[in-house]
Amino acid sequence: MDTEETDEERAGFTRRQLLAGLAGSTASVATVGTLGYARLDPVDRLEVRVWVSERAAAYDGVAERVREYLEALLSYDYWELDLSVGGTVAVSREDGASVTSDGEWPATLASGAVGLGGVDPVADANLLVTDGQMTTAPTGFALPHVASVGGARHLAALPPFDELEGVRDGGAVHRIVPDERPVRTIQILLHEVGHALGLDHDHGVVFRDGERVVATPMLSSYAWDPDYEGDRSRCGREYPPADGRERALSLAFSTCARRGLESYDGTGL
Ligand SMILES: [Zn+2]
Repeated sequence: MDTEETDEERAGFTRRQLLAGLAGSTASVATVGTLGYARLDPVDRLEVRVWVSERAAAYDGVAERVREYLEALLSYDYWELDLSVGGTVAVSREDGASVTSDGEWPATLASGAVGLGGVDPVADANLLVTDGQMTTAPTGFALPHVASVGGARHLAALPPFDELEGVRDGGAVHRIVPDERPVRTIQILLHEVGHALGLDHDHGVVFRDGERVVATPMLSSYAWDPDYEGDRSRCGREYPPADGRERALSLAFSTCARRGLESYDGTGL
C-alpha cells in the first residue's frame, strides 16, 4: 500500500513539473512534440489566453466578448478554467490562418516564452483574434497550444452570451443557434481552440433537430461540404444527410469532443 501511494505521488509530481516546464520554457511545437512522454494524466486546470491584433482591437469590446463566450463554452466539471486576456499584439498580417500557418504567431509566442516581446503565453491554448476575412477558407489555423482566427468585427457584433438566440430560451444543452456570420465566427474560433487542445474534425457531429441539421464546433462547415469524406464521428455516431434542411450551429462541443477534452493531458497532440 505504501509503495502504491508513493508511486502515485511521484506521477503527480512529474506531471506538475512538466506543465510548469511547458508554461515556463516555450510554447514551441517542436519542444512539446519531442518530450517523448508516453501518457500523461488529464489536466485539472486549463489555461487559455486571448490576444487581439491591433486592427482587431479597434472593434470595441471584442476581447471581452470572446472571453465571455469561452467562459461559457469551455467550463466543464473536469477542469478549473483559467481564462485571461493577454492584450493587443502587433502582427504583420490580419489573415487569421496564415498568421499561424506561416509561423508568425507561434514565433511571437516562443519569443514571449523566453521573455522577449511582451507576450506571455500560457500552457494550454494561446488564441490570437485578428481582423481577417471570414468568407474564404481557411479563416483560422491551429497547432498544439496555438490558435488564430479572423473575424474580429463579427465577434464584436455578438450579443452577450445569455442574450444569444437559442441560448436564451432553454438552449443550454446543445446551444443551437442560427447559421449567421457572428455565431459562425465564434464557432470557428471554438473549432480552432479545440484543435489547439488536440481535437480533430471527427470529434464533431452533425445531428437533426426537428427540421434543422445542426453542426457542432469541430465538424463545423465540413458538415455541409460535399468533399468532406467522414460519415461518422470517431466515437461512432453517424452523420445524417442534410437533405436540404435548414442549417444551424451548435456552440456546445459534441459528447465525443467533450470526451476528448476530458482526456486532454496537456500535450495537445
Ligand atoms: Zn479544422
